[in-house]
Amino acid sequence: MTGSVIVIGAGIIGSTTALVLQEAGWNVTLCDPNPPGGKEGASYGNGGWISPASIVPMSMPGLWRQVPGLLMDPDGPLTIDWTSLPRLAPWLIRFVLSGATEARVVRTAGLLNWLLHDGPERHLELAKQTGQEHLIVQNGLLYAYPDRQSFESEALAWRLRKENGVFFEEWDEEKLRCNLAALSADYRFAAYVPKGAHCRDTGAYVAGIVDTAVRAGVRVVSRGVRSISNAPRPRVTLEAGGGLDADYVVVAAGIHSRELMRGLGAKIPMTSERGYHVTMASADQPFDIPVMPSTGKMANTPTNMGLRVSGQVELAAIDKAPNWRRVEVLKRHALASYPYLNDTPHHDMTIWMGHRPSTPDGLPVIGRLARHQRIIAAFGHGHVGVGAAPKTAEMVLGAVKGRPAQEASDFLPARFGY
Ligand SMILES: Cc1cc2nc3c(=O)[nH]c(=O)nc-3n(C[C@H](O)[C@H](O)[C@H](O)COP(=O)(O)OP(=O)(O)OC[C@H]3O[C@@H](n4cnc5c(N)ncnc54)[C@H](O)[C@@H]3O)c2cc1C
Repeated sequence: MTGSVIVIGAGIIGSTTALVLQEAGWNVTLCDPNPPGGKEGASYGNGGWISPASIVPMSMPGLWRQVPGLLMDPDGPLTIDWTSLPRLAPWLIRFVLSGATEARVVRTAGLLNWLLHDGPERHLELAKQTGQEHLIVQNGLLYAYPDRQSFESEALAWRLRKENGVFFEEWDEEKLRCNLAALSADYRFAAYVPKGAHCRDTGAYVAGIVDTAVRAGVRVVSRGVRSISNAPRPRVTLEAGGGLDADYVVVAAGIHSRELMRGLGAKIPMTSERGYHVTMASADQPFDIPVMPSTGKMANTPTNMGLRVSGQVELAAIDKAPNWRRVEVLKRHALASYPYLNDTPHHDMTIWMGHRPSTPDGLPVIGRLARHQRIIAAFGHGHVGVGAAPKTAEMVLGAVKGRPAQEASDFLPARFGY
């Protein structure tokens, strides 16, 4: 038995979910005031990594000891807007506690592995289904280090990957130079994850998924949703006035899902981990394996628009203006990591800031609300929304059918009391 579903938000999560539900026979309406895959969503400007290795939680044991140092480093990967601190403190405390013990991070890594392990295959299939094979490339992903010692300093992270079956090769300096001559000689060791894939244009990919969904019968309503109600049946009120009702409502509005949930009395702890990118176009693109240099922790991704360097975690209220100083940090890292960029004087650069919708326990929120069984959460994917999108869509399908996978229970909003 099927019925009607309203999906709120046409980012990577909402668009993939809309397509999967429609293909399964549901009658889907997709609401978003912005163009699918547009700059307003995190899905537009992310690093495009489809990584089975992204199972290591951001919050790890001992983080609390590193936080002061990280925060004092203006060029470091983590910054905080002090004026937003009072609002952020409750989330921050839960975040640090979620990774306070090894047992907790082992659990989180296992759940993320369930979510992400077959992301590359699922995306290759989705790309085929939507005629976008040219956008998803499976060339592996590379984590570069100055030396073996720095790799070993992240022993817990690599152990978690190994124990979860994430295969990686260790590359010495010779192998690294041979495969990635463009990378600075300051990096002399790497871990290569052959199964990893990446997307060459994340915004276009989302737009292409929505095009296919529309051809399959999804109705797109280019309006924002102001609120959701649940009695006698699910109904959304549109920002422009008027409303729509359906048998189920799926909330996939990224960071903005927080306000929509609040209207239903569900205070899901989610904050924006703001991130930035700079994309540098240059005549040559001498490498086609995405790289994450350990210094700086930023994703360096070959895209159709040039080399995209994305990263930085900036904890700040979502209504704060972007701090474009963060992009200067990304740019400096790019120029230091790839000497060839310095020889190409006129880069055509684009810059961007987006909101990672992040929960303190590092897991997305997927499934029915305990008190509103016809409202389904599909948000909070933090750093892994691209990799997790196809599996999330499958989980939402399980939720509307009332037959969720057993493992899906760990992602339910009920863990926050809703
Ligand atoms: C710098 C950076 C790098 C990243 N790199 C990676 C990476 O390499 N790999 C990876 O897997 N993930 C990465 N991520 C994370 C990833 O981008 C996100 O997890 C993912 O895009 C979230 O997708 P989403 O669909 O939930 O949200 P979004 O893409 O933000 O989409 C939400 C949509 O909802 C719409 N919306 C908002 N409010 C309403 C409303 N009231 N009514 C209707 N529609 C509404 C918005 O217009 C938007 O289109 C990165 C993120 C950042 C910021």
